[in-house]
Amino acid sequence: MIKYKLICEKNHEFESWFADSREFDNLKRRNLLDCIFCSSKNIKKSIMSPMISNVKKIKEKNNDFGILLKNEKKRLFQIRKYVEKNFEYVDKNFSQKVRDIYYDKKNKKTIYGITTPEERKELAEEGIDLLSIPWVDKDN
Ligand SMILES: [Zn+2]
Repeated sequence: MIKYKLICEKNHEFESWFADSREFDNLKRRNLLDCIFCSSKNIKKSIMSPMISNVKKIKEKNNDFGILLKNEKKRLFQIRKYVEKNFEYVDKNFSQKVRDIYYDKKNKKTIYGITTPEERKELAEEGIDLLSIPWVDKDN
């Protein structure tokens, strides 16, 4: 069994269980999936980041996976530091600001902020490339 986070065209998010990824594709092709809120048939998989529990224990064990995890975390934290230092934070105004910059060819400003899945889709359709970065804290 596999749990997917699903999202409809109106941005309703919900979770559903499937036997495997093929079952999802099958149901989708036969139009048997609908949104539990608005019954829309326009459903797709929302991106789900896997979560790992017992991180502390894994790190203490100091095996290959623990070391890998620690290094990965450090790397992501360095990315975060870099972004915070070199990019301007614009919070929820991100999609507006990113458009201003994109359509103003002389503007080379780099920014970061928050978008909704809907906004990301719109921006992608306009050809604006975005990168989503896992935001880690130093300790957890
Ligand atoms: Zn819906």
